[in-house]
Amino acid sequence: MKLSKIFLTVTAVFGGLFLSQQAEAEGRLVVYCSAQNTMCEQEVAAFEKKYNVKTSFIRGGTGSIFARIGAEKANPQGDVWYGGTLDPHSQAGEMGLLTAYQSPNLQYIPDELKDPAKVKGNYTSAIYLGILGFGVNTERLAKLNIPVPKCWKDLTDSRLKMEIQSADPQSSGTAYTALATFVQLWGEKEAFNYLTELHKNVSQYTKSGNTATRNTARGEASIGIGFLHEHSIEKEKGAPVELIVPCEGTGYEIGGVSIIKGARNLENAKLFVDWALSKEAQELSWQKGDTHQILTNLEAQQSPYALDFKSINLINYDFNKYGAADERKRLIDKWINRVKLAQ
Ligand code: PLP
Repeated sequence: MKLSKIFLTVTAVFGGLFLSQQAEAEGRLVVYCSAQNTMCEQEVAAFEKKYNVKTSFIRGGTGSIFARIGAEKANPQGDVWYGGTLDPHSQAGEMGLLTAYQSPNLQYIPDELKDPAKVKGNYTSAIYLGILGFGVNTERLAKLNIPVPKCWKDLTDSRLKMEIQSADPQSSGTAYTALATFVQLWGEKEAFNYLTELHKNVSQYTKSGNTATRNTARGEASIGIGFLHEHSIEKEKGAPVELIVPCEGTGYEIGGVSIIKGARNLENAKLFVDWALSKEAQELSWQKGDTHQILTNLEAQQSPYALDFKSINLINYDFNKYGAADERKRLIDKWINRVKLAQ
């Protein structure tokens, strides 16, 4: 057989397969998205186009989406939960709100991240890593004549009164990561003393972590506590922001993707998890999605702005303990009573 004929035959066979796969994939998908908004938009649009699935998304902080999935338990409205920190995903798995799924694309994920949640069996898969820290608006800080803080403890300096924004751990996975990080760094008593002092300098607890980041870039605050990859987007866009990895060391997140139990579009939800773990989708997050987290697919090219995980002084974040339902609820309730609502 001539080469061109072989090529045509192969194309026809694979073309047929491709069409039938597309036909199977038709239908709908509802994504609950806890990633940054542009990333949600780009990923959902690319998935819709590639697989011919009518896909919509609703954006919410990781804690907010967790609460929504719990409230809709009897009548789930979402199919897949994309992005956001692992702890609330892990809690949802423990509470029976998710469906386990082992994607074939897990072969591209490092062994230590293959099944990261507390309850094993791939209720959540790992799509990225993010490092917690703070961003400093150097222009705003210079007007106050205060040196750039380098440590978490510098943020309790009384000259920074009303100069800091952070998110609320009830709605935000970023803020819960910070809360759990302080407890792991110093023990619970000292962590809550620190949060009480920090509170005096916080002008606003935002719903999502990236709102505090954006507000800092805009000059509404001197300091925003958040994931450094979020601050780096603002810096890349020209904001006068310096990224700080705190001197005491810091925590990090694993970004999750999970299928919601009772998903109406289960097959498409699985296809979306395959997509989220793929090299193509992960690279899209920085190429068009405006985010520079560390990608988990070993074959994916990292963003030129991604931080080097190994060069940073990170705590050994205990995802089993801090992703446990009772512990997350207990720490958040304590934060509300002892810090946010305390007089
Ligand atoms: N966007 C990005 C890029 C993130 O890395 C994260 C954390 O996973 C989030 C959004 C979620 O943030 P939050 O739950 O604080 O709103």
